[in-house]
Amino acid sequence: MEILEKRIAADGEVYPGNILKVNSFLNHQMDIGLLQEMGREWKRRFEGAGINKILTIEASGIGIACIAAAEFGCPVVFAKKSKSLNLGKDVYTARVESFTHKNVSDVIVDRRFLGPDDRVLIIDDFLANGKALEGLMEILQQAGATLCGVGIAIEKGFQGAGDRFRAQGIRVESLAIVDAMDGERGTVTFRK
Ligand code: 5GP
Repeated sequence: MEILEKRIAADGEVYPGNILKVNSFLNHQMDIGLLQEMGREWKRRFEGAGINKILTIEASGIGIACIAAAEFGCPVVFAKKSKSLNLGKDVYTARVESFTHKNVSDVIVDRRFLGPDDRVLIIDDFLANGKALEGLMEILQQAGATLCGVGIAIEKGFQGAGDRFRAQGIRVESLAIVDAMDGERGTVTFRK
């Protein structure tokens, strides 16, 4: 998606450890006009898929997911990072290793908010090694819900997870795919 690529090229910052910071428009300050364009683009790409729920993970996926949900006219459920006290029979759970924080947390979704009637679009800000996505897919499996596809704002293609999921037949629609980042020059190369 050209406007997102242009914005990343202009305002994204490359940090050590293969981290791309987009705090000025996505992850701290949020450009709502841009997010609305992204929501419309996912709606166009998933037209006819019968999506009736969007699933994301706290915290950084929530804003993007909410604005996309306004386009789809459906609710958003976000998986909560939980203290083990909250684990129990009323929730679906998965363990997720964080790429940015390097820790492992249990994420939970209340059973009342996902079930076999749900046709779900998973939305997240970044796809790196795919751990967050794997956790969300595990929760969908526990719920017996249908995964219609995955909408990612920025996929770091060089980390390979997106292509791994596509090879498994999962529809992953990333609005920008970064194939290389140069920390010295601060440049980003997009997949064409
Ligand atoms: P994964 O589970 O795919 O390895 O990582 C996905 C999660 O890590 C995303 O939800 C995102 O919050 C965070 N993340 C991964 N890579 C980056 C990055 O380069 N920049 C930022 N800002 N977040 C990232």
